[in-house]
Amino acid sequence: MKFFNQHKQVSLIVEESLIAKIFQIGIEKYPLETGGFLVGYYSNDSMTLYIKDLLLPSKQKGMAYLFERSIDGMKQVFKKLFEDQKYFYIGEWHTHPNGLSMYSSTDLNAMIEIANCETVSITNPILLILSIRDKQVNDFSFYIYNNKGLHRYE
Ligand SMILES: [Zn+2]
Repeated sequence: MKFFNQHKQVSLIVEESLIAKIFQIGIEKYPLETGGFLVGYYSNDSMTLYIKDLLLPSKQKGMAYLFERSIDGMKQVFKKLFEDQKYFYIGEWHTHPNGLSMYSSTDLNAMIEIANCETVSITNPILLILSIRDKQVNDFSFYIYNNKGLHRYE
């Protein structure tokens, strides 16, 4: 599957099987919120991002999501992933049970923190949000973070 972001003029490529895997985790946890990290790499010209896998955080704190689950605990995991597969941390994914795939102000603030986080040092992290209703994925959206804003991929 390929997505394009008008704002940054960049593309994102992800295997349908990976999306299906993320859907499945989200549905299994429903009606609880869940999420984790996305890993992958960029093309040489940095115009295309390949999402290759997901990681679940080592600690999950239940409801209030995103940055609470401490990216710091993942430092070694990311390091090993890069050594073994040359994949980087590229962003986040989480579910909105009975909600929309639109980001919240909490989500935006968390992404601002991530972009400023020394552990991951990434200027344009991405965010995937899944809207789940009645144990089904209703909708999903990818966003790219840039300069204190989130911009959707189409
Ligand atoms: Zn959210």
